[in-house]
Amino acid sequence: MATVTLQSLRKEFDNGRIVAVDDLSLEVEDGEFVTVVGPSGCGKSTTLRMIAGLEQPTSGQIFIGGEDVTDVHARNRDVAMVFQNYALYPHKTVEQNMAFGLRMSTNLSRAEREEKVHQTAEMMDIEELLDDRPSELSGGQKQRVALGRAIVREPDVFLFDEPLSNLDAKLRTTMRTEIQRLQDELGTTAIYVTHDQEEAMTMGDRIAILNGGILQQTGHPKSVYQNPTNEFVGTFVGSPAMNMLNVSVTTEGDRAILANGNRFTYTLDGDQGQRVADADLAEARLGIRPENIIVSEHLSGDGIETVVDVVEPVGSDNYLYLDLGKNFIARVDADLEPTRGDTVVVEFDQSDVHLFDQDGESVLF
Ligand code: ATP
Repeated sequence: MATVTLQSLRKEFDNGRIVAVDDLSLEVEDGEFVTVVGPSGCGKSTTLRMIAGLEQPTSGQIFIGGEDVTDVHARNRDVAMVFQNYALYPHKTVEQNMAFGLRMSTNLSRAEREEKVHQTAEMMDIEELLDDRPSELSGGQKQRVALGRAIVREPDVFLFDEPLSNLDAKLRTTMRTEIQRLQDELGTTAIYVTHDQEEAMTMGDRIAILNGGILQQTGHPKSVYQNPTNEFVGTFVGSPAMNMLNVSVTTEGDRAILANGNRFTYTLDGDQGQRVADADLAEARLGIRPENIIVSEHLSGDGIETVVDVVEPVGSDNYLYLDLGKNFIARVDADLEPTRGDTVVVEFDQSDVHLFDQDGESVLF
């Protein structure tokens, strides 16, 4: 088991024309499960490949278990990587695939290797596949073998590169739980790359969000969800995404009045109002999550009146697309079923409102 420390990692391609990873620092604790998430091309795989030793950083350092491994060859790093495409040897049997890494990285006798492979196969429930070749296996079975091959080596660190992307939705959910259970039982430090924010949020002890090669935020999934550091993070985590509206800001004492064109005004008071006044913003971005919008069909009170454009039922909930902005969604209980074109009243609690600067680069709350 080991900590993994990334210090100001940078990776350029094409003589510096592409900066895949930019000044990335991250500390993964011993036994921790950290998910790294971000849109396509944000540098997730490159980061993981640098940790594995498959890619040499342009600058910066990588420490595993306190040892500087930046210049250590991949085969001499005690890490095991699981890939999206499984990367099994097609001509070897499952047993040979699992034993191969052991033969390369340990001095175990043949009998000891066999015992370990069988123990791990039992743990992964793939004993009956040991004599099969990869071409005879389903995608899910291949991925179990790939996991087994990583586990059998008892590495210091597991590196997962989108390992579930090629599996169907149901199997993906089962395998998520299985990977978490195994990692928990083995206590091995794990770094798990995915583009799927839901996967990252449900699996990670901690989540690290990358965009354009730059680390945006790290933290416990719930805390990132509740306190995003910028608009990118706010809209990237959570589904459907946080609704965003442009507002102009005027203040009166500790009251801040946010106006969305002439559609509506919303007043923040107390501490939040004071913070807006102190920040001296003329324009801002107001963020509100779909699940935090209170919708009522009674046209009374002092909420915001708007029209329902689309009603999308998703089982336990309905998504209401409201005329407040493009793709402005309220997630409401399935019992609330307005029809398209109905006028409804929406309200949001002040504690659920996020306010970002005009460019969405920093957050007030
Ligand atoms: P995805 O989810 O699509 O796999 P990612 O977040 O893993 O994306 P990377 O594969 O790390 O992103 O790529 C980051 C950037 O570096 C991209 O712009 C990519 O095109 C570029 N890149 C990656 N590998 C190379 C390479 N070998 N040569 C040139 N450019 C590369």
